[in-house]
Amino acid sequence: MQPATQMWWFTVGRVLTTVLVGLGAGWLLGNLWTGLACALALHLGWVLANLFRLEWWLRHRNYADPPDVGGVWGEIIAQVVRLHRRKRFHKQRFVQLMRQLQRSTAALPNGVVILNAQREIVWFNRMAGRLLELRSTADLGLRIDNLLRAPEFLRYLARADYSNPVVIRPTMGEDTYLSLQVVPYGDGQLLLLVSDVSRQMRLEAVRRDFVANASHELRSPLTVISGYLETLGHDPALDPEVLGPIAEMRRQAERMTQIIRDLLELSRLEETDEVVGGNPVDVAALLSLLRKDVLARPVHPREVRVRIDSGMQLSGDEPEIHSAFSNLVDNAAKYTPAEGSIEMRWWTDGEGGHFAVTDTGFGIPAEHIPRLTERFYRVDAGRSRATGGSGLGLAIVKHVLQRHGARLEVRSTLGEGSSFTCHFPPERLARPAGAALTTETA
Ligand code: ADP
Repeated sequence: MQPATQMWWFTVGRVLTTVLVGLGAGWLLGNLWTGLACALALHLGWVLANLFRLEWWLRHRNYADPPDVGGVWGEIIAQVVRLHRRKRFHKQRFVQLMRQLQRSTAALPNGVVILNAQREIVWFNRMAGRLLELRSTADLGLRIDNLLRAPEFLRYLARADYSNPVVIRPTMGEDTYLSLQVVPYGDGQLLLLVSDVSRQMRLEAVRRDFVANASHELRSPLTVISGYLETLGHDPALDPEVLGPIAEMRRQAERMTQIIRDLLELSRLEETDEVVGGNPVDVAALLSLLRKDVLARPVHPREVRVRIDSGMQLSGDEPEIHSAFSNLVDNAAKYTPAEGSIEMRWWTDGEGGHFAVTDTGFGIPAEHIPRLTERFYRVDAGRSRATGGSGLGLAIVKHVLQRHGARLEVRSTLGEGSSFTCHFPPERLARPAGAALTTETA
């Protein structure tokens, strides 16, 4: 028999014995009911006494020993003791784990802030407190966007895409840069990771300055060399044998000038990742100009089309937009044979404005596409050099688009052609200047 069942039989036996003893005493006294009532009252008293001891012990269980009672009461007390021990064990483990977690996050070289769905600070580690100047007494429960007012961070927080961190300067004028990245988790909660990137930013600035200065310094001697080569090239007294090498030197000097021009433009664009404002740009007029540039090339694709499917204008920095679009159109012209065609298209929809350059050129193998916007990345270095490419065009495009909150989409099939599309957000669209639906074809 199970101990629990045995115990219950024992308890039932005890009640029956009480009843029998009560009846026996009643029979001796001449009144069965009085005897029974007295016996049951005594039993009830005993039960109440046990209940009292159990309740008293439960209240003082942290320091008092459990009452020594047998039967069902003893078993109940033993179960309570077991539950209590188990709870204490789990509590201790939980506290230990919390302490370890707190110690490890406090030792992290990066700041961590936990935000709830309302963007209020729930917890932060020591480093986050130091970097963001948060005070645990006053700032817990406050909204992070009320404490961190850097416009870049506010824009970042309002976005749905947190895949890349944002770099802010918490105190203007000081040389401190913080990288902030939001990691969503759970039910709308956010983890804000903070790290000090001042050193990286300083090194980056030194590198940028070096490239800009070196390019600047190279420009003047190169202008002189190009000038002399130009004069020499037109000198009738020159031996015709050296004309070929001089023409080649002029081509190479031109390439170097182009590389330096692109390097200078890139370092100017890299100076700040600030989103630019700007004025409405007439995309139709710009594309018409770019088409003329392509047609002015000594060798160009047979057909160059411009399709304007929206009268909306693009709000941005005109020279930058011109540079980005012209780089894309230039590439399409360079990497498409004379019998091919190019189409430039501008259209708008609910997602914003889109500019696409599609060509029927050589195409790009899929594995190269993700790296195209890296500086000096060329799929076919020989072909790029032969066409006078600097390898910096798409890096410039990427930076310009970043500064306009836009992104570049590249699709290409080897041997069939490529399509480079710039997607601008709706806020970049400017007032409609009368719907103009035109198609120009060369
Ligand atoms: P480049 O000055 O060499 O053209 P870019 O940065 O503009 O440099 O382009 C990088 C590389 O991407 C090019 O060298 C070329 O291999 C490839 N590329 C760019 N546009 C096209 C295109 N429309 N068709 C084929 N390949 C292209």
